[in-house]
Amino acid sequence: MSFKESYGSKEELDFLKRIKLEFKEAVQFIDTEIGTVERGVVDLLEGPFRQLIVRFPVEMDNSTIKIFTGYRVQHSRLYEPTKGGIRYAPDVDLNIVTALAFDMTLKCRVVDVPFGGSKGGVRCDPKKMSQRELDRLTRRYAYEIFPAIGPDADVPAPDIGTGEREMGIIYDTYKMFNPKSPHAEAVVTGKPVNLGGSHGRTEATALGGAYVLEEAVKRRHIEGLDSLKDATVVVQGFGNAGFYIAKILSEDYGCSIVGICDSKGGIYNQEGLDVNDVLDFKQNVSKEKSVIGYNGLQPLTMEQLLTSPCDILVPAAKETQIIGSIAKNIEAKVILELANGPTTNYADKILIDKNIYVLPDILANSGGVTVSYFEWLQNKAGECWELSQVNERLHKKMVTAYQNVTKISEDRELHMRKAAFVFAISNAIEVIKNRGIFP
Ligand code: NAD
Repeated sequence: MSFKESYGSKEELDFLKRIKLEFKEAVQFIDTEIGTVERGVVDLLEGPFRQLIVRFPVEMDNSTIKIFTGYRVQHSRLYEPTKGGIRYAPDVDLNIVTALAFDMTLKCRVVDVPFGGSKGGVRCDPKKMSQRELDRLTRRYAYEIFPAIGPDADVPAPDIGTGEREMGIIYDTYKMFNPKSPHAEAVVTGKPVNLGGSHGRTEATALGGAYVLEEAVKRRHIEGLDSLKDATVVVQGFGNAGFYIAKILSEDYGCSIVGICDSKGGIYNQEGLDVNDVLDFKQNVSKEKSVIGYNGLQPLTMEQLLTSPCDILVPAAKETQIIGSIAKNIEAKVILELANGPTTNYADKILIDKNIYVLPDILANSGGVTVSYFEWLQNKAGECWELSQVNERLHKKMVTAYQNVTKISEDRELHMRKAAFVFAISNAIEVIKNRGIFP
């Protein structure tokens, strides 16, 4: 398959270029409603307002010093604080962090959470570092981004390669330097519950996605899929988002999880996989800490897994996974994008032509930032909500977001991604117009 057939163009490999293109295309749909003031607002939204690059040393276990580069990008201050996860991965750079911060601005508008968008990351390979090395890296990175973060300035959360542990360390570091800050725990979300974390935050991204999918099925928006019971599911990525969506869809909705993969490859079983057992295998049996080898199943490449027979495909790994050559062969009826930016624009057009219903990332995975908002509210108020209360509120937010995007989609005859962008941009314009431009 040629490069052109796989990707359409070189730009497709660049998530930042893709999201800017999608943004520009969406703006065209509201062009006639845009005056001079709004035009300036659109220009403002096209780029970040602050990009911080930090370079810092970390002492490794063998007493050598390694230098790391970290980033914190704040995309929009429609509301403060800005909000966005922290990613630890070998391919983290300013470009990807900027794209993810842009994504956060749009996502917060779609789900109506009063935060601006931001994102952070460190270029490192957590799989090749010890826990103590990672802890030292987290503490030093937290210190280096102090000029940007704070409970009312910018609030990090987990993303690829980070979780509760890192959020706990960032909170502790912040508190050490701000001992009198009354709500210091609101400096991060996704912390352990005993440090002020919210019940339900860990699984919120997946649960929010499940609520959106449930709503789409209920309203018969997915051709050929009238019920989630016994629907077959393939999940790409078996970390936070991937594991929990597999668990929730199988245990709470009666779906059959037929395919799972991690960065090393995938497994498929038409009869269904026991999600908890696969996790136990990956964590405690597999030497490579992979799903590969589970129950002697034939290992699959990523392409084979993504194009395996299923009703629901859930990309929950990373950006730029569903490219043109894969989209052509996808058999799913619906794609639930829990990862950020998993589908290229070129592939998206192919999916539309094939009439595959796509629940776009800025809608489908916004449950994470929603419960992060709940966590921040609880910290500010000194409260701890019950899990049922968190999930009830999450459900309401996700269903409302789905309805709002669907309305745009139906009124303007747009597919869901474009509709979500149009909704987010129109909403952002209104917020800035109401605030006015400083000074
Ligand atoms: P994670 O680190 O917990 O898990 C990532 C998983 O993807 C791992 O299983 C890893 O092995 C796998 N993976 C990595 N590269 C892969 C590849 N090329 N092919 C297949 N699998 C691969 O990360 P996460 O928090 O679950 O995040 C996954 C995606 O969801 C990311 O795009 C992230 O931005 C997005 N997301 C996460 C949250 C959240 O709250 N954690 C919220 C919104 C969006």
